[in-house]
Amino acid sequence: MKEIQDLVRPNILHLTPYSSARAEFKGKAEVLLDANESPFNTGHNRYPEPLSTDIRTALSEMKQIDPDNIFIGNGSDEIVDQVTRVFCTPGRDAVHALPPTFGMYKVAAGINDAAFRPLTLLPDFTIPVGPLKESWDAHSKILWLCSPNNPSGNLMDPAVVEDLIRSFPGIVVLDEAYIDFIPEASFLPRLDEFPNLIIMQTLSKGWGMAGVRLGVAYASPFIVTMLRAIKMPYNINVLTQQVALRALQQPEVMEERVALLKSERQRLERELAKFDFVDFIFPSVTNFLLVRFTDSDAVYKYLLTHGIVVRNQSYQPNAASCLRITAGLVEENDRLLAALEAFIV
Ligand SMILES: *Cc1c(COP(=O)(O)O)cnc(C)c1O
Repeated sequence: MKEIQDLVRPNILHLTPYSSARAEFKGKAEVLLDANESPFNTGHNRYPEPLSTDIRTALSEMKQIDPDNIFIGNGSDEIVDQVTRVFCTPGRDAVHALPPTFGMYKVAAGINDAAFRPLTLLPDFTIPVGPLKESWDAHSKILWLCSPNNPSGNLMDPAVVEDLIRSFPGIVVLDEAYIDFIPEASFLPRLDEFPNLIIMQTLSKGWGMAGVRLGVAYASPFIVTMLRAIKMPYNINVLTQQVALRALQQPEVMEERVALLKSERQRLERELAKFDFVDFIFPSVTNFLLVRFTDSDAVYKYLLTHGIVVRNQSYQPNAASCLRITAGLVEENDRLLAALEAFIV
């Protein structure tokens, strides 16, 4: 294994980051005339605290991890781009991902001119370990692992994940966007064992704050320092920081909603299995189901005529004729089931 430092793009490793007004003084601030802000106190006339320190402190206590292991992004989407940017020299380096999976890994590779090397998951959506290990080389900088995986809904075997983290010659990013639905499976308690591991979580799914835009990366202090070096100075705005902090102080609200959504997902699974136009329902540990229909296009269009939108996944490898259905409120799921009840093949 190379030193992590040797994996970073040389220009990023040696970058002098932007230094914000508020980061430059030490001492007690009484009169702030340093940042060309408006002095009228509206609650958002000042620039936000650049490192989201309050949020990192709250997460640190909740997850039992040092605040220096925590980086905050404007959604994990932003972190996907930032990680690609820190490690991949454009036109030279490569990233690996295992479709069908989250689309942003490929988009970020495209934006940053990194080669995207996809390897399709096996038909049961487990990882083809042998072929994956044969596919990487000296240009391989990032391996994106999504567990639980979107859109398949399954958790990757932890022994396989561990083996890949130990054997991949670059950075492994474990995207745990859905971990709130199966918290006991998180790799976070083991972060210190793996210097090349980045774990991404988000407030967008279980925490119910997709509109707030807050994603989290957990990694070594060195990797966190690199991510901080390239981030826009005020990537997390004042409103986001306030709303996120308030939500993080009430984890029981999140836990209750997650429990309801899990039971609704299980109900959908049971009820959908009764329809003869449902061919297969992939086992899920998340708030959604990947469902193979005998004719997914017909079902997709039919549901739209009832005002119900699901996600077409037919274009993804090994997901032909599949739709991804998110568990909604009880009434919403009832509406879905009632519409399908009236569907004539
Ligand atoms: C939804 C999702 C994200 C996006 O998270 P944001 O924090 O909203 O940007 C990331 N990864 C996966 C796998 C997702 O499904």
